[in-house]
Amino acid sequence: MENIRFYNTRFLSLIYEEYEFVSKKIDKIQETFSFFKTVSVYYYETLEEMQKKIPIKLPDWIKGLSTADEIHILNPSEWKGFVEKEDSLAKIFVHEYVHVAIFNSFHSQCPCWLNEGLAQIISEQFKKQKSRIALIPYDYYKKGYDDDEFYYQSALVTFLLIEEVGIDNLLKHCMKCYDFENDEVVGTGALQKKICLYLEKLE
Ligand SMILES: [Zn+2]
Repeated sequence: MENIRFYNTRFLSLIYEEYEFVSKKIDKIQETFSFFKTVSVYYYETLEEMQKKIPIKLPDWIKGLSTADEIHILNPSEWKGFVEKEDSLAKIFVHEYVHVAIFNSFHSQCPCWLNEGLAQIISEQFKKQKSRIALIPYDYYKKGYDDDEFYYQSALVTFLLIEEVGIDNLLKHCMKCYDFENDEVVGTGALQKKICLYLEKLE
């Protein structure tokens, strides 16, 4: 696990048991995204402590956040709101690292749904065996974090894309993409068509 600077040894001791999972994931992400910039990782025991370091108001459901070259992670016993049983400190770290890699390797700003979909899938927070029957025609480019379905629908449709074109092809395509919303693979129209076809096949 290179190019990562950990500022708290406590964090390393907490992910000790999942260290192999984390280091394999980080190596793979660095290679896939050709991302080798140094990233600094900060761990906080409490939300208050985290809030003191972050200049924006943090929502109380926060687990971690990232900037262009920093990752900030909160103590899991402080996590509020809905916590998936697959969630762990290690996975949240990998999730945030995916966001940093995307931020640094995409030509244009990655749409939120794709950013969250990729982060959830690569970090294995979202498992394949979960049913995609829950896919609904969803307004990916208009909905955001304040929508209850946002994370779930983002992961579902990203999975559909990965199944169709493969994760490496999807990433290669998206890294070079300039106009996501009108894109032939990940644009609004393309996604609606894919979802309809998928749902028809289920019937
Ligand atoms: Zn995220």
